[in-house]
Amino acid sequence: MNNILNLAITGVQQLVPYVPGKPIEELERELGLTGIIKLASNENPLGPSPKALTAIQQTLPDLARYPDGGGYRLKQALSDKFKVKPEQITLGNGSNELLEIVARTFLTPEHEVIFSEHAFAVYPIVTQAVGAKSVEVAAIDYGHDLDAMLASVTAKTRMVFIANPNNPTGTLLAQDALEKFVKALPDHVICVLDEAYFEFVSAEGQSDSLAWLQDCPNLLITRTFSKAYGLAGLRVGYAFSSVAMADLLNRVRQPFNNNMLALAAAEAALGDLDYLNQTIALNQAGMRQLTTAFEHLELGWIHSAGNFVTVALNQPALPVYQALLRKGVIVRPIANYGMPKHLRISIGTADENAIFIKALTEVLNHV
Ligand SMILES: *Cc1c(COP(=O)(O)O)cnc(C)c1O
Repeated sequence: MNNILNLAITGVQQLVPYVPGKPIEELERELGLTGIIKLASNENPLGPSPKALTAIQQTLPDLARYPDGGGYRLKQALSDKFKVKPEQITLGNGSNELLEIVARTFLTPEHEVIFSEHAFAVYPIVTQAVGAKSVEVAAIDYGHDLDAMLASVTAKTRMVFIANPNNPTGTLLAQDALEKFVKALPDHVICVLDEAYFEFVSAEGQSDSLAWLQDCPNLLITRTFSKAYGLAGLRVGYAFSSVAMADLLNRVRQPFNNNMLALAAAEAALGDLDYLNQTIALNQAGMRQLTTAFEHLELGWIHSAGNFVTVALNQPALPVYQALLRKGVIVRPIANYGMPKHLRISIGTADENAIFIKALTEVLNHV
């Protein structure tokens, strides 16, 4: 039988692709409506930093050239800000690409990869895509169970993924517990610490995990311009590691994986502290607005350290999600994360949050 499915590597045959949040345009087409609001992909509700837009304008005339494949200026800016050597930095087409590059660099079908139940959906995808074995460890209170994860390490374990805070649950591990875990991993295990929401937690005074890099040559810390820096559409992520690890990742990545506009915009956004502070303040106010509403509606939620919050509906979430869509509000169902009675809501502007709260209140009174 010449079935092309059988020709794919085993992991890919069983791969379930990532399901993104529903795009605004798609719902607008379906409903014939405009003015739809999307609180589904943890994007920055302020739009991009004005400094990033100016940098893009200034870069447009150069587009006939290839971008700087070494990302010199952006790495320099990251190096200055975070006090890490440029040689310790790897740039990615979104931090998603970095998760994929680290998997392709270190994993084969002989290896096991540990991650938590309810953890970010990309970890099993990048694991399966290279044919390695996923080892999912049961969560406690929707968060990582570090002791159980450590106990799951075997001679075959090559990688552990930790999202801190985690998406879609928003749970945050204490830095001292996480540091102990990272330092207890044996030498044959690569630890990927995904800090996509770093700016939101560092605003709350959490200590910086970059200090651990000195003692941990196997540690990769990934961050992104997609969330707090408002550049999800441009795809820029970065990772900090030992120089030796960065050297390996740079062998595997495509030579021009970040485009010229993305590099320029990210560098400008990194320097826009006013925008970042505004983003964090808006997020804190929006988090209070949403959780206060959940309290009034007698709904539970998972305390979140990110720019989103996951609400417990105590009933199947899919019909609620669909009813919200019909009212022009896109949120995120997370049944694919083993949470069919929860919805994840990205924090929007005050107006967007109010529209969502009104729609949810109406839907819960009628479903
Ligand atoms: C959003 C997100 C990412 C990836 O974002 P990129 O846009 O690819 O940088 C990575 N990890 C987690 C936990 C996320 O929520």
